[in-house]
Amino acid sequence: MKEIDLPDDLKQCVAFHGHLCPGLVIGYCAAKLGMRLLAADRSADEELIAIVENDTCAVDAIQALTGCTFGKGNLFFQDHGKMVFTFAVRPTARPCTSAAGRSRRRISKRSPRTNGATGRYSSC
Ligand SMILES: [Zn+2]
Repeated sequence: MKEIDLPDDLKQCVAFHGHLCPGLVIGYCAAKLGMRLLAADRSADEELIAIVENDTCAVDAIQALTGCTFGKGNLFFQDHGKMVFTFAVRPTARPCTSAAGRSRRRISKRSPRTNGATGRYSSC
């Protein structure tokens, strides 16, 4: 069987999570996209926040890549059972939402979750 050459940051996610699986890759893509759109680095403290709407394997990749954790108080779980991940940078609170699936494939300048703050919807 041929080995797959994974990016180093995905290898970090696998090490954190314990195995490579589709959910982990979804979280990896969501975190990479969110951080890229916000021009954010891994959260050393609490400057980057993540709101996750599921408790799947994807959340482990979010934690490993973004540095958002329950312990630091910058990871928020809203149990909606959806593959939706919202990222924002404190104190600007510029949100960016990554969602898997067809219903949220649009990208817009305004997020329906905010009061006029600039944000984006996108898929991985
Ligand atoms: Zn998994």
